[in-house]
Amino acid sequence: MPTDIEIARQATLIPITEVAKNAGVPDEALIPYGKYKAKVDTATLPTTSNGKLILVTAVNPTPAGEGKTTTSVGLSDALHRIGKKTMLCLREPSLGPCFGVKGGGAGGGKSQVMPMDEINLHFTGDFHAITSAHNLLSAMIDNHIYWGNSLDIDLRRVTWRRVLDMNDRALRQIVGPLGGVSNGFPRETGFDITVASEIMAILCLASDLDDLQKRLGDIIIGYRRDRTPVFCRDVKADPAMTVLLKDAILPNLVQTLENRPAFLHGGPFANIAHGCNSVIATKTALRMADYVVTEAGFGADLGAEKFMDIKCRLAGLKPDAIVLVATVRALKMNGGVAKADLTKGENVDAVRAGSVNLKRHIENVKKFGITPTIAINHFYLDTDAEIAVIQEMAKEFGADAVICKHWAEGGAGAEELAQIVATKADAGAPDFDQLYPSSMPLADKITTVATEIYRAENVAIPTAVRKQLKQWEEMGYGEFPVCMAKTQYSFSTDPTQLGAPTGHEIAIREVRLSAGAGFVVAIAGDIMTMPGLPKVPSAEGIYLDENGQIEGLF
Ligand code: ADP
Ligand code: MG
Repeated sequence: MPTDIEIARQATLIPITEVAKNAGVPDEALIPYGKYKAKVDTATLPTTSNGKLILVTAVNPTPAGEGKTTTSVGLSDALHRIGKKTMLCLREPSLGPCFGVKGGGAGGGKSQVMPMDEINLHFTGDFHAITSAHNLLSAMIDNHIYWGNSLDIDLRRVTWRRVLDMNDRALRQIVGPLGGVSNGFPRETGFDITVASEIMAILCLASDLDDLQKRLGDIIIGYRRDRTPVFCRDVKADPAMTVLLKDAILPNLVQTLENRPAFLHGGPFANIAHGCNSVIATKTALRMADYVVTEAGFGADLGAEKFMDIKCRLAGLKPDAIVLVATVRALKMNGGVAKADLTKGENVDAVRAGSVNLKRHIENVKKFGITPTIAINHFYLDTDAEIAVIQEMAKEFGADAVICKHWAEGGAGAEELAQIVATKADAGAPDFDQLYPSSMPLADKITTVATEIYRAENVAIPTAVRKQLKQWEEMGYGEFPVCMAKTQYSFSTDPTQLGAPTGHEIAIREVRLSAGAGFVVAIAGDIMTMPGLPKVPSAEGIYLDENGQIEGLF
C-alpha cells in the first residue's frame, strides 16, 4: 500500500486558476498564493447557486480511524462524477498534531486534498495571522498593566493567555513577566495551541470583516477586583487585530486528487470550540455550487451537535442531509476488541456488540429531524459478514448503509453514496430543528445536551457554576448556545467507556464564556488546550530527502 504522501506525489494537479474557472470563480475574485493555492475574494464573487448542505459526521472516534475527512473528499469527488456541481469545505489542519501523533488533516488514500504537504504545514498563513492577532492582544494587555493599569485589571484574573501552533506542554502553565521593574508585573499565565484560541472560533463564525471586528471587541480578557469584565475593546486592540486578520478571513481554494475544488478554511478545536470550518467558506460554497459537503470534528455526539446547535444556529444555516461514517474497525473496538487485535480476522460478534454505538448516534441525529445515511468506510480486511451487521443495524432505523471504497478507488468508490445523498439533499430536511431553543436557560441547555445526546442519568452542575451561568444571563449572554468540552471517545466523560454506556453522570467542572465567539463552554472532565508530544513524535521521522522532497509526512 502506498502511503498518503506517495499517492499525493503521483497526483497530476491542475493550476489553481483552472480549478477556480471550473468552480465558477472569476479571475477578479481569485487571489493566487503560488500555483496550487488561492484565496477567494468573497465580496466580488457572483452568486450563481443556492446549494444544498451535506454534513459528514461519524461514530465515536477510536485509534483505528474512521475517516470523516477521507469520506468527505470521496463523497465530493463522487458527486462530481455523477454530474453534480459540488464544493467541499474542510478545516485547515494544525501543525501541532502534524508533528505529534501520525495523521494529517487532508484525507487519505485516493481521497485527499492537494497539495497535502503545504496544507499540513504553513499553507496560506491563516494560523500565523490568528496567532499574531491573539498575541497582539496579549502584548497590549501586559503593556496596559505596565503603563499604570488605568482599567484596573486584576492581575490574578487575566483570562486571556498566549497561543502557539505547536504541541508544547512546557508552556501550559508559566510565570511572566519576570526580570524586574522594567519588564512589568509577574503573574501566572500560559499558552494554548492556536486552534484553541477564541480568535479561531471567531474567525470561523464571523459573517464579514465588520462582524469580525465587533466579535473581537466583545472578547472578555479578564476581570477587575469587583468581578466586572474587561473587554478587548477596552484595551483598544480590536481594530489592529482585524488588520492582521483581513486576508485570513478569505477562504482558501485548493483541489482534490481528482482536481475538484475545495475550500479549506479555519480549524477550531472541537472541544472548547465548535470544530467546523468557517461560516464564510460554507456560505460562499453554497453560493457557488449545488451541493456542499462539509465535515464536523470528532463523533456525532460532539461534532454534529455543535455543527447544528452552534454553527447552524449562529449562522442561519441548515443541513439538508447528514452522512454518518462508520467502520468495521471502529465498531469492533466499541465492541471490546483491542487495537492490536483488529487484524486478527473476522469477528462478527464484536461488530454486533459495538454497533450499539452506531445505533445511538443514529437515534441522536434523528433528534435533529434528519435520518442520516451511513457510509461504511471500507478497509481492506473487512469481511462481507461484518459489513452485513452494520447494514442490518442501519435498516432497523430506516437508514441506508452504503459500502464506500473511496480510500482505495477515489470518487468512483463512493458513487452509490453520492446518488443516495444527492436524492436526500434534494428532498431537503423540512423537519430539521436544533436540540434546544436559544431562550432556554444556560444550565438547562447543558442538561439537555448531556441527557439527550450523552444519555447521562445524572448531570451534576455545582452551585458555583450555576451562579456563574446566572450571572452571565443577567449580563445578556443567556441566548448563547453551549459548547460542551468532553472526551471524544465516549458518550460519557470516561474515555474507556466505549459502546453505548448508560447510568453515567456528566459532571460539569467549569464554565467559560467565549463572549466574542458567542457561546458558553461547559467543561466535563479533563480537557487539554495545549497538547503535548508523544514519546516518539512523528517529527522525528519527517525530513527532506536528497531531492528536496518531504518524507515522513504520513
Ligand atoms: P477523520 O477525519 O475521521 O479524523 P481521516 O479521514 O483524517 O479521519 O482518516 C484518518 C486516517 O485513516 C488517515 O490517515 C486515512 O488515510 C486513514 N483511512 C481513512 N479511511 C481509510 C480506509 N478506508 N482504509 C485505510 N485507511 C483509511
Ligand atoms: Mg478529519
